[in-house]
Amino acid sequence: MAVKKLNGTIIVTYRCNARCTMCNRYKCPSKPDEELTIETIKKLPKMYFTNITGGEPFIREDLADIVRELYKKSDRIVISTNGFFTERIIKLCEEFPKVGIRISIEGLEKTNNKIRGLEDGFNKGYNTLKKLVEMNHPDVGFGMTVQDANAKDLVSLYKLSNELNMEFATASLHNSFYFVESKNIIHDRPMVAKEFENLINELLNSNSPKKWFRAYFNHGLINYIYGQKRLLPCDMAFDTFFIDPYGDVMPCNGTKDKLVMGNLNKQSWDELWNSTQADKVRNCVRNCDRNCWMIGSVSPAMHKYIWIPAWWVIKHKFLRFFKKQKYSMYENKIVRDYRDKKVSKEELDSCSTCDMNCKAKNGLSKESEAELKKNLRKNKK
Ligand code: SF4
Ligand code: SF4
Repeated sequence: MAVKKLNGTIIVTYRCNARCTMCNRYKCPSKPDEELTIETIKKLPKMYFTNITGGEPFIREDLADIVRELYKKSDRIVISTNGFFTERIIKLCEEFPKVGIRISIEGLEKTNNKIRGLEDGFNKGYNTLKKLVEMNHPDVGFGMTVQDANAKDLVSLYKLSNELNMEFATASLHNSFYFVESKNIIHDRPMVAKEFENLINELLNSNSPKKWFRAYFNHGLINYIYGQKRLLPCDMAFDTFFIDPYGDVMPCNGTKDKLVMGNLNKQSWDELWNSTQADKVRNCVRNCDRNCWMIGSVSPAMHKYIWIPAWWVIKHKFLRFFKKQKYSMYENKIVRDYRDKKVSKEELDSCSTCDMNCKAKNGLSKESEAELKKNLRKNKK
């Protein structure tokens, strides 16, 4: 019987050189000597898709060894990065010409540098992108976490990605142990939704079916920022998994506390994946009410429940072509209700995962937590 391949996200480190406004991960790094080893990576299952992420994955100087090992078990690998370590990225792409690179750029120059907290971060990221284009690297793209501060740059960045002939991925603000954040929230929802609407119309206007499906994803982001139920079921931990720098296998990165199915440093994959603990976590996923909408959980759902986005695409292409009717954010009932004052901002805020009184969890191991406290004490002296 053919082995079922999974979709895996490998968080190789919690160290990060950036200082993003929407993520405190840089304040809570993992200890380098605790991070995933090649021995543990060898125990991972067969995958049809692997995303390598962090923190900033290129901080790990042995990233090429990790990628080499992962290619023995994965059909496709994409690395998410802030693009700062240009030379390391180029070197890795020379060795692995098929590896995908997604660079997060949070807006045009001024906005990006403000959000990312990296001096000259935009130019570094953009130069990395340009170098990859010059060397004809086939799988390059950039991504943006849309928020009040950068929403106005959304369509401009999309157009830039088109000029460079690149993929353009979007996300919005989330709260979780992974981001070490619980206070992220969109303040001006209609303004941000309007920018998503503009992007959706650009995407639907293109000749690329892939972009039409991306339009659906962005439609889901409007639904998400208004705190509504996910448009598609969440099946994380059934045929997808995340693994953190400590070898803890988790369903996703969107939960408030880290949910652990088992530890791959200590267990074999089969033992872990088929354990009672893994089933308990799957049960938590079935009852999860966080309604997050991140590509890691939505992309597998879009493939699995393909008829739902496909129907949406057909409908909107039909309306566009035969009735000259563009997508409108007011197709979402909640957007109309908010416009018509049937629901208040406070009510929408309470549907989000933002909790101003909550102390954000960080999912660190005891050892990394102790190291963090030691460093904090040292810095205070
Ligand atoms: S969002 Fe990414 S780049 Fe920014 S601090 Fe968090 S891990 Fe680092
Ligand atoms: S909705 Fe799914 S991906 Fe999001 S936190 Fe819940 S289980 Fe994780």
